[in-house]
Amino acid sequence: MDVARGLEGLIEEVREGFGEEIVALRRDIHREPELGFDTEKTAEKVLAALDGLPLEIETGVAHNGVVATLMGGGDDGPTVGLRADMDALPIHEETGLPFASEADGKMHACGHDGHTSMLVGAAKTLCQEHVRERLSGTVKFVFQPAEEGGGGGRVMVEEGVAEGVASIFALHLWPGLPFGTAATKAGPIMAAADAFELKIKGSGGHGAMPHLTADAVAIAAHVVTALQTVVAREVDPVEPAVLTVGEIGAGTAFNIIPETARLGGTVRTINDELRERMPGRMEEIARGIARGMRGDAELDYRFSYPVTRNDADAAKLALKVAAGLFGEDRAVELGDPSMGAEDFAFFLEELPGAYVWLGVGDVSGLHTPKFAFDEEILSRGAALLAALALEASQQSS
Ligand SMILES: [Zn+2]
Ligand SMILES: [Zn+2]
Repeated sequence: MDVARGLEGLIEEVREGFGEEIVALRRDIHREPELGFDTEKTAEKVLAALDGLPLEIETGVAHNGVVATLMGGGDDGPTVGLRADMDALPIHEETGLPFASEADGKMHACGHDGHTSMLVGAAKTLCQEHVRERLSGTVKFVFQPAEEGGGGGRVMVEEGVAEGVASIFALHLWPGLPFGTAATKAGPIMAAADAFELKIKGSGGHGAMPHLTADAVAIAAHVVTALQTVVAREVDPVEPAVLTVGEIGAGTAFNIIPETARLGGTVRTINDELRERMPGRMEEIARGIARGMRGDAELDYRFSYPVTRNDADAAKLALKVAAGLFGEDRAVELGDPSMGAEDFAFFLEELPGAYVWLGVGDVSGLHTPKFAFDEEILSRGAALLAALALEASQQSS
């Protein structure tokens, strides 16, 4: 099948056929956000929306994930995976929308409600008989919990979701990218995200008698500053890397020098060799400073999400399909990766595939309490996912 041909009209078809339903589903999920692996009600809403479709359904995958499988018209083609994340964030919503979160301190501030309903829309589209007969392989619709920490993607891979799948795709709504534009690239598109905790040990005492103590607060202050030199002075300036100290804690009263201090933060890298090198250098620097100031430091470092690395052919296919659907000027090849992270990376460690950003224009950023988007994007995203499955199922397995 010619990529560009046959896609015209697909957005319109999705909008007319399922537009209202997928907007209603998105709002329903938005009103009742769930965190981490606890996406039980969201999974129920997905199952209700898929009810009656010719799908083979597996529930309880990675705790509360759902995997739905559609056999195409021709059964000799490859299996294509489409994945959406379902979890929300611990943020108090401030959008003022009529369907705003009813769960205090929880919000779909990363658009996963949209991703989930777009994937349901893609399933409904592909299940229509006249579309299904154009599908030469099998499609696995993967609804994943715990993207925002927890690594639901890793658990799904461990439970065998990637087995037998030839390629996999996922979308993420993307503020700052023009509305209705798809963007992706070959190779790294999102960074590896690791977490650290540094315990600074000193000896405490009276705030008026610092000479009788080893001041953990003073040590921590020097360590925060010195840690910034790891990226600034030890990493090749053209190599992307971030070291952020996001947490700092010590002390109980204004006149007590505390015995300990704690720093927490994240390291983002694209280069695997650099990723491995970071904890060693951080510990040497923190320890050197702490010991020089009569204290000590201990680093607890946790490798978390790996680099999200797109397959070159899959990224090319995604851009071609997006150009066919949205127009050439709305399929953009990205230059630089984002230093954000994504646990779709675990699927891409196992399988070729591509992670694609879908622009929602100039709106409040992801992970902010005012994040909101024009729901017109949902029909477009659902059409893009369906088209990706149709096109990738034409590839030889
Ligand atoms: Zn997020
Ligand atoms: Zn997200």
